[in-house]
Amino acid sequence: MSNELSFTNISTDDLSFICPSGITLHVLRLDKLHPVISGNKWFKLRYYLDEAIQSRQRHVVTFGGAWSNHILATAAACQSLGLTVTGIIRGERPETLSATLETALALGMQLEFVSREYYREKEIPPSLNISDPFIIPEGGYGEAGVRGAATILDHTSFDFTHVCCAVGTGTMIAGLLSRARMDQQVLGVSVLKNKGQPEEAIKHLLPLAQGNWNILYDYHFGGYARHDPELINFMNQFCKQTNVPSDFVYTGKLFYAVTDLIRKGYFPAASRLLLVHSGGLQGNVSLPPGTLRC
Ligand SMILES: *Cc1c(COP(=O)(O)O)cnc(C)c1O
Repeated sequence: MSNELSFTNISTDDLSFICPSGITLHVLRLDKLHPVISGNKWFKLRYYLDEAIQSRQRHVVTFGGAWSNHILATAAACQSLGLTVTGIIRGERPETLSATLETALALGMQLEFVSREYYREKEIPPSLNISDPFIIPEGGYGEAGVRGAATILDHTSFDFTHVCCAVGTGTMIAGLLSRARMDQQVLGVSVLKNKGQPEEAIKHLLPLAQGNWNILYDYHFGGYARHDPELINFMNQFCKQTNVPSDFVYTGKLFYAVTDLIRKGYFPAASRLLLVHSGGLQGNVSLPPGTLRC
């Protein structure tokens, strides 16, 4: 087993409701996992952090943008495990830090800002002079991330016919796919304008991937972190009806897509859908105040 972080238990019965079509929706509230290390990020990080500790590489380095859920989760996890951590942040240092970076800094993460061009190389600036760093790829992308994401399904006993999740790097969906049964469909909603890329990522991460999976590309709302009034209205309404808040980068688009697919008859009658609430609520702070009303 893993390192000693402790989390609130996730109740599998957090939310279940039946749609008029006889389809059951069940939301796995990973957003309630921990006050800071929320959502899928802990799952993707856990085996990387185990490896860092076991190999005695106690200086972790990772990469992300100003509002990155991954940066924040890594900062908090490393703090509670006593690991030193540096975040390589995309873009020049702004005059005021984002709330995400402020929190990461307060948790002890060292922040290093690099130009967007340099960031693309995913290299550690030589000036940092870190000896024997343990590098965690951006977003936890990679084989250890997949193994960790597979353990998300240990937190539910809901017998689903479909598991639905938002897709960024593809690491989480690869993990779910590696654990799901052949008779269960794994459905991903890409939040980027990147048709085909998640398929490539899944094939790379899980060369022997089998099973029933599908990625949808019609719900990105213009691209990563883009949004429009329709999405925001939907998120407000969904939250009012279900009491489940979502974030505008990932889970808002997931819930919108699933609701739309139900309306369009994508799922057979009596389907049981497990929706992975993968967290990310902290990023909503980047929206103008009053945008989300729930
Ligand atoms: C990172 C993230 C995702 C995407 O996970 P991938 O493994 O990169 O596909 C989905 N939802 C939330 C809230 C995230 O922070």
